[in-house]
Amino acid sequence: MKKICALLLIIFAAGCITFVPACSPDKSGGSVSSYTMYVSYDEAERKLTGTVDFDYFNSTENELSDLKFNLYGAAFGKESKFKPVSESYKNRAYYAGTDYGDMEISNVENCAGWNVAGEDENILIVNLNSPLYPEERVKLKISYTLKLARVNHRTGVTADAVNLGNFYPVLCAYTAEGFIECPYYSCGDPFMSECADYNVTIDVPENYIIASSGTEKSSSAANGRKKYQYILKKARDFALVLSTKFKVLEAEQDGVDVKYYYLSDGSPEKSLSAAAQSLGYFNDVFGKYVYPSLSVVETGFCYGGMEYPALTMIAKGLSEDERYYTIVHENAHQWWYAMVGNNQLTDAWQDEGLAEYSSLMFFENNPDYGYTRTSMIGTATRSYRTFFSVYGQLNGKTDTSMNRNLGAYSGDLEYCYISYNKGMLLFDMLRRSMGDKAFMNCLSDYFSTYKYKIASSDDIIGVFAASGADVEGVFRAFIDGKIII
Ligand SMILES: [Zn+2]
Repeated sequence: MKKICALLLIIFAAGCITFVPACSPDKSGGSVSSYTMYVSYDEAERKLTGTVDFDYFNSTENELSDLKFNLYGAAFGKESKFKPVSESYKNRAYYAGTDYGDMEISNVENCAGWNVAGEDENILIVNLNSPLYPEERVKLKISYTLKLARVNHRTGVTADAVNLGNFYPVLCAYTAEGFIECPYYSCGDPFMSECADYNVTIDVPENYIIASSGTEKSSSAANGRKKYQYILKKARDFALVLSTKFKVLEAEQDGVDVKYYYLSDGSPEKSLSAAAQSLGYFNDVFGKYVYPSLSVVETGFCYGGMEYPALTMIAKGLSEDERYYTIVHENAHQWWYAMVGNNQLTDAWQDEGLAEYSSLMFFENNPDYGYTRTSMIGTATRSYRTFFSVYGQLNGKTDTSMNRNLGAYSGDLEYCYISYNKGMLLFDMLRRSMGDKAFMNCLSDYFSTYKYKIASSDDIIGVFAASGADVEGVFRAFIDGKIII
């Protein structure tokens, strides 16, 4: 996700801030679970009706009696405890006044039983018919409905488009602690999931144009409606954006079909170029992007943008500079979040800090955008210091640790300055300590070692430490909040 921290600082200075409460090794030999999904969109009701034929592969080392799924759509319901939008973003999100959606499971087939539970009635628990041993498979069929709120957010109906991120029951990632349940914290991206294969069919009114994480395999039209089928392999998630108003530009970059779906962008060629250029740069520096296409989508969104595998949402109404920056930042997430996963609930710096630093590297190598390494590090440092100086005066103390659960941040601003700014400063400090070549080699080693997996903070520290550089102390000083910036 990209938050525009400068805007947040203005909100903070105006006193509008609201304070809110807040891997597993790959044993699969490459086998993954698969989602075969069918969804139908009812425009008048703003509702999706869907089924998921879920083929689960037990890649854990444990015998399992239950499976758990995150129901992210439930957070948009009236009764949810964890609201998806904080007070400071409410006006940007609820463009038509506060509105609610909901997610309901109607049935699960081929199981001993099921119920919806969790801290916020946000987890589907499926009791299996018999214990599932490592490397065994089980098939379930889940039926659900998703009522969409009118909201500029990951899952919702915006003024011009329908954003379908996190729109289906998503298997909880499994770690040493078991299945990780993800309450919908409003600051940050409260997601953690494992790579799977997708075969998705969506049925929409025929005048809709669809941006998708997947590659279109087939389409058919009947009775004023159209069905599209998409395929995506080994991805952490699957997203769609629908609109009757999209215009589309395309380019090819390193064999990848880069598409730009836009609404009101006055210079769409430049936005497409930023998307293709940054994809090419990250390919060269980190390692090859693995998906056949990348769709960059201008849509209603309360933050700057949001990443999904092979699809990024970019907020309509950004300034030109904000738009290019956000496109590059979200593209960097294809490497840091999509292909290399991490626990975004406890170690947001790992993907956000790297996405910010990857953006810095791109702009440093493409000076036409007007940024330099010095200017970006200077801005990040100054705004970080300003925030924590004011925060310290107001609260008497500051906590600058980086390995916090999203629920432990005081709000959007603290999350932003720790995960984005301090994350960026950490990677610049590492680069200065190690030298450019060793630093770049560590990033490509990190990518190749953890592609398709979930890397812990110890894993990334391990990759850097294995290079022979004495950098573990740098990581620990930043993460523990001991370093003074
Ligand atoms: Zn981000």
